Amino acid sequence: MGKIVNVAVVGYGGMGGWHTRLLQEIPEVRLAGVYDILPERNKAAEEKGIKAYESLEALLADPEIDVVTVAIPNDAHKEVCIKVMEAGKAAISEKPVTMSSEVLEEMIEASNRTGQLFTVHQNRRWDEDFRVADQIVKSGDLGRVFSIQSRVHGSRGIPGDWRNTKEHGGGMVLDWGVHLLDQMNMMMGKMPKTVYATLSNVTNEEVDDGFTAMFTFDGGVVFTVEVGTSNFINLPRWYIQGLNGTAEITDWDLSGKIVIATADEEHDAVPIVTAAGLTKTMAPRTPETIKELPIPRIDTDIKDYYRNIAKVVNGEEKQIVTHDQQRELMHLMEAIFESAEGNKVVTL
Ligand code: NAD
Repeated sequence: MGKIVNVAVVGYGGMGGWHTRLLQEIPEVRLAGVYDILPERNKAAEEKGIKAYESLEALLADPEIDVVTVAIPNDAHKEVCIKVMEAGKAAISEKPVTMSSEVLEEMIEASNRTGQLFTVHQNRRWDEDFRVADQIVKSGDLGRVFSIQSRVHGSRGIPGDWRNTKEHGGGMVLDWGVHLLDQMNMMMGKMPKTVYATLSNVTNEEVDDGFTAMFTFDGGVVFTVEVGTSNFINLPRWYIQGLNGTAEITDWDLSGKIVIATADEEHDAVPIVTAAGLTKTMAPRTPETIKELPIPRIDTDIKDYYRNIAKVVNGEEKQIVTHDQQRELMHLMEAIFESAEGNKVVTL
């Protein structure tokens, strides 16, 4: 194991708290302390035995600190990340890295200029449901996959004050969309060709409180990404269709099933009779021609994120979340807004 890497966290809110807990569980890193703009949050950190710096400048002046994780509202990531790199430390920005491609380029330029690591906390690459969905797509069990739907649904609108405002980079494309788009990019291994998207403003006029985006890929896959915050009944987290079967992962608990065809149907389907008609097209498959497979399980460990950071700082590995991946994500989010605003298909 290389040198233990000292990490400080700027912003001790919901996610800052999460980072401090995680950092204290990983032997390869050490939590050096936190700084929050609100004195009461610094006090809350001290009550947990965590060192709180009196200012950002004091934190950046500490020569012990190697890496700073920036967990503050989205519009403030740029300024703090650039200061971190200019102070000779590596910067990890929370997602979404920022709110436009233009600003992202300024952050990447600072990384190139200072030679400091600059990366983003795309933690949902370690979600088990995503890893399993990815494995199902790649296993071949479903035959040629032609449609993938990835959704998250809630029913409480947008939580938090700053997430409700445009100024601070609120809205669900930037908040949850960035995770689901990152997962899509990891799964497909290439950028889509086109997108058509709609935004919802059910509970919030200022920023989107949900969206649906349909991406088309070379090779014929249609990938739907959807975030909803006014859903009292959730649609499945993942719904994947191939020529030979369908998989549904209902929720993060990995409930769901995979159904595949085992043989052609010998007999004609028995029609379903409804009150006003009948249909063979929508009749269920005969049981002897299909088989149900269990949803596989995969061990994932989010601690690998900081293990990689420690190795990058020690010169032993490359960063997992790259600048080009962030450029692509920002481009996709901008294309979603462009499509929704113009009610048009956008070519990527
Ligand atoms: P939050 O409102 O709970 O916490 C933000 C904290 O930052 C507050 O305590 C606030 O006082 C502090 N702050 C604001 N400006 C500051 C500044 N300039 N310097 C120092 N402190 C400052 O918000 P949150 O939910 O923790 O979100 C923070 C970031 O983390 C956002 O970018 C968000 O998108 C991201 N986030 C990521 C995940 C994930 O799974 N990766 C989950 C939640 C939030």
